[in-house]
Amino acid sequence: MSIPSLPVSTLGTPRIGPRRELKFALESFWSGKSGEAALLEAAAGLRAANWARQRALGVTNIPSNDFSLYDHVLDTSVMVGAIPDAYGWNGGKVSLATYFALARGSEGETQGAACASGCGAHSHGVPALEMTKWFDTNYHYLTPEFTKGQVFTLASTKPVDEYVEAKALGYQTRPVLLGPVTFLKLGKSKDPALDPLSLLANLLPVYVDVLRRLKANGAEWVQIDEPCLVLDLDDATRQALRAAYGMFAHASPALKLMLTSYFGGLGDNLADALALPVAGLHLDLVRAPEQLDAVLARAPRGLVLSLGVIDGRNIWRANIPSILDRLAPVVAKRGPDHIEIASSCSLLHVPIDLDLETDLDPDLKNWLAFSVQKMGELATLGRALAGGGDAIAATIADSARAFAARAASKKVHDPAVAARIAAIARQMAERASPFEIRREWQRRALDLPDFPTTTIGSFPQTPEVRKARAAHAKGALTDADYDAFLRAETKEAVRWQEEIGLDVLVHGEFERNDMVQYFGEQLSGYVFTQHGWVQSYGSRYVRPPIIFGDVSRPKQMTVAWSTYAQSLTKRPMKGMLTGPVTMMQWSFVRDDLPRSEVCRQIALALRDEVTDLEAAGIRIIQIDEPAIREGLPLRRADWPAYLAWAVECFRLAASGVRDDTQIHTHMCYSEFNDIIQSIGAMDADVISIETSRSKMELLDAFVAYRYPNEIGPGVYDIHSPRVPPVGEMTELLVKATKSLTPDQIWVNPDCGLKTRKWEEVRPALVNMVAAAKDVRAALAKAAE
Ligand code: GLN
Ligand code: ZN
Repeated sequence: MSIPSLPVSTLGTPRIGPRRELKFALESFWSGKSGEAALLEAAAGLRAANWARQRALGVTNIPSNDFSLYDHVLDTSVMVGAIPDAYGWNGGKVSLATYFALARGSEGETQGAACASGCGAHSHGVPALEMTKWFDTNYHYLTPEFTKGQVFTLASTKPVDEYVEAKALGYQTRPVLLGPVTFLKLGKSKDPALDPLSLLANLLPVYVDVLRRLKANGAEWVQIDEPCLVLDLDDATRQALRAAYGMFAHASPALKLMLTSYFGGLGDNLADALALPVAGLHLDLVRAPEQLDAVLARAPRGLVLSLGVIDGRNIWRANIPSILDRLAPVVAKRGPDHIEIASSCSLLHVPIDLDLETDLDPDLKNWLAFSVQKMGELATLGRALAGGGDAIAATIADSARAFAARAASKKVHDPAVAARIAAIARQMAERASPFEIRREWQRRALDLPDFPTTTIGSFPQTPEVRKARAAHAKGALTDADYDAFLRAETKEAVRWQEEIGLDVLVHGEFERNDMVQYFGEQLSGYVFTQHGWVQSYGSRYVRPPIIFGDVSRPKQMTVAWSTYAQSLTKRPMKGMLTGPVTMMQWSFVRDDLPRSEVCRQIALALRDEVTDLEAAGIRIIQIDEPAIREGLPLRRADWPAYLAWAVECFRLAASGVRDDTQIHTHMCYSEFNDIIQSIGAMDADVISIETSRSKMELLDAFVAYRYPNEIGPGVYDIHSPRVPPVGEMTELLVKATKSLTPDQIWVNPDCGLKTRKWEEVRPALVNMVAAAKDVRAALAKAAE
């Protein structure tokens, strides 16, 4: 007997399995331990379990084709046959070998690929497609690659197959497709003159074919995702949306489309979205609750509105009564036939099941909801709004109690943190003196040569280091033994850096598991899960920490390691911290405070660490902020506000030190052109950035904007095992002198070295030091 409910949808579910089953099935297949059949069987099992779970929990619009072996954008490229020539696909069914070559590159030959050079002596690999972040999430998709005159053909019927598979199991699903306009906009071409949107007319017939096949097999609704609807759109994109959805309505009039927008509000695209001939429109009412009124005022009568009220991007339990208060009048006014209740976006971005967590504080656990729990919340809302109040009254009351308990909890609210935040004074985000003055003090204190050499912080995390850490975590290695092991590693790293002649040393970060986790585990307000895995890309999953309460630093975090390392050498030892924006960006963040406020709390905690390092005799401190750029909001209009508080937080963390203490920062990318002013405004004494892969293209940004402080444009690409020769790095440094003054330039790799092997790192850094010496000598000679 089914309980009355409004239609309830998830928009998509995590694919990875509660126990990371997909990862293990993939790795077993890739390593050759198991065959194709075993992988496909595991995948089918995960799909069936997802469908069953949703039905059991009361989800009524169950999606299909939300599953992927690797990535749904790649699946779409494969569906429409957008497979670059290099992968040797000759039409026909796309093999798993080709699919995974697109995803991960291949070492040998792919399906039917002939060696282009005809050498026959060795097999030729192909690189993977490029990977990019999916909107403002930490999920990475494989970038579609298009060519001029690209033809599209139906190369995979995955959406139809999975619909049929579900149907055979007794589920009438709503298949999910990535919409054609967003798909094209996510893609790129080697030919910069090619606008992917110009390929729309070629692409649409394949979509029409898929829609017709879905209809022919019995689908009534199809969910079609166009998250580009929350971006700043140009006229060409608006026109493309009209063309695409006009064509679908014409070609398959009986099939109902649920067009989804998510990760933000429709904003100035609202009129365009409402004008499209679709049966339903999904709104993200978590990110953009304010858009509901505007939509209600203008939506055509017959349009089904899918109200995304359960947060698909975060792990907090919803306040059900307050959502009901907001939605009940909407349902009453619009009628239950034209409303669906949904998660704000696919549940792909949250962990699967809170019930697997056995170590969490019970209070905290009661405030959380992972994918499974969110499905339950959706069902509760659907039933309550259908008038089924009595049966679920207890559930609703429980939600209200949990919410009230969280709001009042001492575990969340620390008056000392609130007092510190209230007492932040403007000067706290400013160094005592401007850079020109600090620079003089620092030159005197540090006595470094021109083109000083340094590294970004980490040295190789060898199998021994990882083994020791695992043994220590399991209790097989005592604290004392583990500590002795780490000290020995650190000592050896310091000795070696001195030997090869680096100017500013690092301790090597051997004690750190991860640059966020290491600090999160030592800060109050952070908690970690045991099974809270979320897909980052393909088979790589991460367990983001949860910031649940006010953040503070109960005790020093890095001072002991930095001072130990400094005690081993007379050269400056660089302290090494992860910055406030990155500490926040790579975590699940509490939703009861603005992000800017959470970030300020972290900044103050780090500020204490910075000043403690200084007091302990550390003269250079690096505060890494690799995540500043990826935190940029999706809409340009929101950039200035974000950049203002992000920069302020960095400065709050960094500015408690004397003029003669040198603050460094590091970022792992080089697309700075549009935010260069803000990077400058961080006012770090030295910034190190990635540039070697782009051959110092970054420096173009500095032609228009004269970066005032010192800068280390990476000369050694750490993403590759290759050892760069001296001459290559000398050349890059000489190139840098064309846009920067010589006394501004530092010499360092692109990023940390933890993923590399010592066999690669040793010769590369020896060469890097030699390159710096060559450039110094050449400059001295030129000055004679
Ligand atoms: N200090 C860190 C390291 O060297 C920086 C890593 C990063 O920026 N991603 O590993
Ligand atoms: Zn980096």
